[in-house]
Amino acid sequence: MRDRFTEMSAQQIVIVDLTSGQATHSREAPSYELPMHRVVYRQMQNVAAIVHTTLSVLRSPLPPVIDEMMVYFGGTIDVADYAFTGTEELGENVVRALGDHSAVLLANHGNVCVGRDIETALHTAITMEAAARVYVQALQIGEPIALPDSSIEAARAMFRHRTRDRR
Ligand SMILES: [Zn+2]
Repeated sequence: MRDRFTEMSAQQIVIVDLTSGQATHSREAPSYELPMHRVVYRQMQNVAAIVHTTLSVLRSPLPPVIDEMMVYFGGTIDVADYAFTGTEELGENVVRALGDHSAVLLANHGNVCVGRDIETALHTAITMEAAARVYVQALQIGEPIALPDSSIEAARAMFRHRTRDRR
């Protein structure tokens, strides 16, 4: 994922009018996922960046079993109900499953990470992938232990501080 970002050029970025959905001043066509992105931006005023990647098949939530998962995701990463790729319905399902968290899994599809800027959203996506890998590896040798309630409260406060004043 990092390599593809370092290879991106400014000309590849598609500028879209959020209201009309029309691309402006861009050579490339917008992603077919534009309807989902528009729904999230329109309904979540504190979101200014979205990172969307693929590969999610189990419809299984990712619980916070490491402190940093609470700090960066705000809690369990839930699974949004299935809707077909490229539809506004998918965006509606994403908004509903996100709540005030920063990441969500998409049933039979992938994930969506949001943030106040692209660096935050990208960091969340990279951290989510690493956390998912750790969780899957841990399941192979035992049952991951939930964080204590006191840690969850402290980490939620850090998450709120990290996500305030977006957009
Ligand atoms: Zn997609």
